Amino acid sequence: MRFRTLIAILSACLMAGCSGVSDVSDKAVDSFFAMDTYMTITAYGDGAASAADAAKAEILRLDSLWSVTDENSDIYAVNNSNGSPQQMSDDTIDLLEYTLDICEKTSGAIDPTIYPLVEKWGFVTEKYYVPSENEINILLQHVDYTKLSVTDGGIILPEGMMIDLGAVGKGRAGQLAAEIVREHGITSALLDVGGNIQTVGSRTDGEAWRLGLRDPFSDGTIGVISVRDKAVVTSGGYERFFVSDSKEYCHIIDPHSGMPVDNDLASVTVIADNGTLCDALSTALYVMGCDGAVSYWKDNGISDGFDLILITDSSDIYVTEGIITDFALSDGYEHIEVHAVS
Ligand code: ADP
Ligand code: MG
Repeated sequence: MRFRTLIAILSACLMAGCSGVSDVSDKAVDSFFAMDTYMTITAYGDGAASAADAAKAEILRLDSLWSVTDENSDIYAVNNSNGSPQQMSDDTIDLLEYTLDICEKTSGAIDPTIYPLVEKWGFVTEKYYVPSENEINILLQHVDYTKLSVTDGGIILPEGMMIDLGAVGKGRAGQLAAEIVREHGITSALLDVGGNIQTVGSRTDGEAWRLGLRDPFSDGTIGVISVRDKAVVTSGGYERFFVSDSKEYCHIIDPHSGMPVDNDLASVTVIADNGTLCDALSTALYVMGCDGAVSYWKDNGISDGFDLILITDSSDIYVTEGIITDFALSDGYEHIEVHAVS
């Protein structure tokens, strides 16, 4: 478990946990390990336990489809298919098709074929390594989402290429798990899917969920986001990185350069109904930098239904218009400048 991610999760849980639950007899809390991270499902009301059980089962099922290392997963099969067509589950096809759309819309800022670079930099095994320019260029020849073809029930991945759904899988898992919780008639639940938060309804006292936004420069909570029935997903280099020769290298790689992202953003938080959109965009917009993220929101934010909270390297915060009244700085952070984006 990555320590910094744990802190982020804890702060989200703590903020959410202070809801007024005393009037509700049924509360189910289920914590477990999946998709390489800790998850917690908290559901309230009649049927909370069975809803939480079903949501957990769904996440474990999706994990077994999308794991890069599990020899029985869809992703393992396609990564070892040597260019031949590979049948796979509808869930995997749907997620890949959705991801490829976002790849296209973000000009390849997110790209599931980046996997060979993620592996080379050591983020899969945690045996970190700084590759040479030559090594990076050789691997970049195998990074190009446009070469992936997804057809009904199958996918063709050219030989030498590998994919990984790490940048979108938790978001989709949270979204599908939340749908299951809702189908159980639950109107108050909080799913913490490895730091990706998916809320169902509101708190049991009818108030919005209050989620802590992590300060990328310390272990503190820089602000609080109030939401109902939304997903809230943050990507940032601070979540996972290593240091070599006094330089930090983070786990999000720019598919155009093969280098860990090092731009003017410290974190990107995406708020939307759709958890998959949040996860895909948090990674992609982090790669694009502050100006790129703002202009992507201006072009697509209202039509696609998402809002952003961007924290820059110099601790400025940019908040888009749909979420600005639901965002408040924490005590002690009042000096920070919050720029409204409209
Ligand atoms: P996390 O899942 O760690 O919270 P992200 O959703 O931002 O954070 O996904 C980052 C993960 O996605 C990395 O750990 C890596 O496996 C993979 N990845 C890194 N860079 C990219 C990229 N540009 N496009 C697609 N996947 C990426
Ligand atoms: Mg992501």
